[in-house]
Amino acid sequence: MMEDKFYQAFVAAWNVSCSAHEVGRRLGGVLTESEVRQVARHLKANGVHIPPQPDGAATEARVAVTPHPATAGEYVDGDGREAYRVGPLAPPRPWPKEGPWTCSRCKTRSSGGVRLRIGPGHHPFVCGRCAWVVD
Ligand SMILES: [Zn+2]
Repeated sequence: MMEDKFYQAFVAAWNVSCSAHEVGRRLGGVLTESEVRQVARHLKANGVHIPPQPDGAATEARVAVTPHPATAGEYVDGDGREAYRVGPLAPPRPWPKEGPWTCSRCKTRSSGGVRLRIGPGHHPFVCGRCAWVVD
């Protein structure tokens, strides 16, 4: 169980750090860069999905969306903008849109997340790493 807590802390540090050095520092300086990379390889080899590099992409606050009060299957974010899911977790639509798309926040390509209805025809994609969908 101690090991699980270490791996949880490791993944959390990996997701918000910009380098292996920073991951080690965030974990209290107990791991060298080489050991950090070794742990990351171990996790990936055991099916844990972490970004290929600690690229710091998730440092911005995530966009949280909650169910729309009036429209089933739709969401709203904290600023009242409407949003809808796209990708594998999206409800079936008559003309499903297939990804991957480039996330408007972290700029990585992903096949699932949400689109925010900012304006007519302007529905920027936010990947599942940058969006927090509360159901
Ligand atoms: Zn993203």
